[in-house]
Formats: sequence, structure tokens, C-alpha cells
Amino acid sequence: MAYRHIDSQSNEISLPVSKVVCIGRNYLDHIQEMNSTVSEAPLLFMKPKAALCHMHEHLGIPTDKGDCHNELEVSVLLKSPLKNASDDEVKDAIWGIGLGLDLTLREVQAALKKQGQPWERAKSFDNSAPLSGFVPLSKVNNIDDLRFNLTINDEVRQQGHTKLMLHKIIPLIAHMSSIFSLDSGDVILTGTPKGVGKLSPADKIAASLDGHLTVKTEVVAE
Ligand code: ZN
Repeated sequence: MAYRHIDSQSNEISLPVSKVVCIGRNYLDHIQEMNSTVSEAPLLFMKPKAALCHMHEHLGIPTDKGDCHNELEVSVLLKSPLKNASDDEVKDAIWGIGLGLDLTLREVQAALKKQGQPWERAKSFDNSAPLSGFVPLSKVNNIDDLRFNLTINDEVRQQGHTKLMLHKIIPLIAHMSSIFSLDSGDVILTGTPKGVGKLSPADKIAASLDGHLTVKTEVVAE
């Protein structure tokens, strides 16, 4: 099925499919595992429409470009446009939250970093952003108090908590909207905690947002 935004009960959400805006280096434990440095201004990058797919249907990874890594992240779906937005305007523009994978070709990324080149070749390929359904914001008590985790073949690989973000969700989106306009239907991926690692075909994946949703899927060679 072509990608459409869906809620956690798999009902279609009537918002356009648009771009994905991502932040890198938003959790200290991940910065440390990568031997990266804390960036003062958020490190931003984008994925195009063709990166989107449904996590429960499709976890296809390229197998001819080196290791493809999991990065499980809290996702945010916008229902209205934002430009130079205040925190309150951001809150009003959020449809809901879910989970997304920022699939990353780690060896390609390392080569790009070395050459000082942008990351699209490593992060913005087709189907590089498998998403869960979205939970309406009204069902979320506190967006800065969300636990999430990823298991691979029943072993915990990633555990995150949104209170540990260096740039919290609402001010982060406000900042993004000061750099480029955000549109209704845009998805924000809010950064990965530690535990990134290689995915292999036939890996069984479960991604959970505590109290809200779990998605089970399996990795296949693209
Ligand atoms: Zn990421």
C-alpha cells in the first residue's frame, strides 16, 4: 500500500504526505556511543516523501551499501503549517505522536562525514523512514515524559525517554520553523537514543511507545 498517514488503529488520517524533518545528536548517550560532539544549534536534515513507508508492512533495507542501522525515534505529525512559530503555536499544530525509524547506512554516513558532505545518501533513500501510526496528542499526558524501546529478536536494543532529549520536542519544532516553513502533513523525527546497530534480513522487530502502541515487523532485503 502506498504510504498514507494512519492512526494507531490503522484508520487513515486525511493529511497530505509530505517531508520528514530530522534532528541528529539529540541524546547524550547516542552522541557518546558515536564519539560525536554536542552541537549547539540542532543538527537538522530531511528525508523526502519517498522515504516514508508503514513500519508494520515494510522494513526493507539496502543490502549492497554496507551496514544499515536502526535508529528508533519519537515521531510527530503536524496538522497545520508553521513558520517562525511560538511554543504555543507548535502545540496547536501537532496532530499526534508515534514512532519512526531513521534508517541509516552507517558506513556510507561515515565516508560522507569524513568528506564533509551532506548525509542524504546515507539517510534519505526510499523507505528510509518506516513509521508507526500516530496517537492523537489529546491522548498524550506529557510529550516530555514518553518511554519507548526497540527489541530485535526479543533482545532489547534501544530504550529511550523523551525527558532526556537535549532539544525538547516543542522548542525543537519551533526552532525548525525558524529555519524553513513546516507544512501540514510534515513528520518530525526527534532523534535517537543509544543502541544503534546493524539490521539483518529476517530480524524480528518490535517497537513500543509505552502505554500507546507496539509495532511488530520483520526486516527484509530491499
Ligand atoms: Zn536519527
